[in-house]
Amino acid sequence: MTTPSLLILPGDGIGPEVMAEVRRIIDWFGAKRGLVFEVSEDLVGGAAWDAHGTPLTDATMSKAQAVDAVLLGAVGGPQYDDLDFSVKPERGLLRLRKEMDLYANLRPAVCFDALADFSSLKPEVVGGLDIMIVRELTSGVYFGEPRGIVTENNERVGINTQRYTESEIARVARSAFELARRRGNRVCSMEKANVMESGVLWRQVVQEVHDADYPDVELSHMYADAGAMQLTRWPKQFDVIVTDNLFGDLLSDLAAMLTGSLGMLPSASLGAPMANGRPKALYEPVHGSAPDIAGQGKANPIACILSFAMALRYSFDQGAEADRLEAAVQQVLADGLRTADLMGPAGGTPVSTAQMADAILAALDAQG
Ligand code: NAD
Repeated sequence: MTTPSLLILPGDGIGPEVMAEVRRIIDWFGAKRGLVFEVSEDLVGGAAWDAHGTPLTDATMSKAQAVDAVLLGAVGGPQYDDLDFSVKPERGLLRLRKEMDLYANLRPAVCFDALADFSSLKPEVVGGLDIMIVRELTSGVYFGEPRGIVTENNERVGINTQRYTESEIARVARSAFELARRRGNRVCSMEKANVMESGVLWRQVVQEVHDADYPDVELSHMYADAGAMQLTRWPKQFDVIVTDNLFGDLLSDLAAMLTGSLGMLPSASLGAPMANGRPKALYEPVHGSAPDIAGQGKANPIACILSFAMALRYSFDQGAEADRLEAAVQQVLADGLRTADLMGPAGGTPVSTAQMADAILAALDAQG
């Protein structure tokens, strides 16, 4: 079997700081679990602009297309604010997502017991929460034509178009069903079939894909507004939620905040299966480059570490090893270790970025 390959793009601000800790975790899996990766590292965002005058070189783009998975830190910073829109750091990330055609955005909402008090909801509502929102990422109202601001009858009219082809719906539905089979085996599809034709088609196609290829997965449908209510009322009723680009944007942010800090949230964006059967994949924390704390050893590395755990699970079929890593994170939080962003009223032991990773490595060792 060929060695699995991973391209690491630390990026800007706290990106390189949190990624340095992920590299130690990757090395641990190589040394202690025999899980060796062929790791290469390159520049993206402002760092690539500084070195090459572009936020992503063609050479880096080619590497991203060739590896089994890409792990990205964060991009951006105030020093790049005046750059032309076409070369801003974020363009590097957008180019990766677009050219890799990453149409399924996975945003888990997991509530670690030790952080249940951080949620705006009651601990019994969020404690033990583990759901996954799959958001369609490359189509829908953010991309549909016609769009623009036009003048009609002497007033301005803003236009955007919700548009989905059945193949676009079917492929993201497949991603959701595949994921569900590795989790709780349940998918809830959300749209507005009561008022939108694109929602009617969405519901039909998701049902057809289910009936043809995934009859073993439990499928339900819900209107997206009712879904938002249910997510705040009793989120633990869900396993995998699949929804379109616009509703997914809102629902994934809502679900993420059920669980507390931005420094804890991983994500994945998946595309079509490659020749080896693995999906094209980019893993990254949800947070940005946090220039306000960069260079101070304050960043919480857990979002990036959990992004690597997602890579283990969804790109490398190493679910048991992902469980191992997530359990180590759970352990250090239960032990009361807190980077500054996790320091709530209940207190805890303040730790730096590196000390948090030290503790996670020690917890991994302790699992034997
Ligand atoms: P941000 O996510 O960088 O920071 C928001 C707040 O959360 C800050 O107070 C920050 O200190 C804190 N924070 C974020 N991650 C943290 C972590 N791991 N540990 C502890 N605290 C953390 O968002 P922002 O301030 O709006 O944006 C800063 C820069 O990042 C901008 O240039 C923006 O364009 C960019 N950005 C990039 C991405 C990305 O790379 N995917 C996403 C969002 C923002």
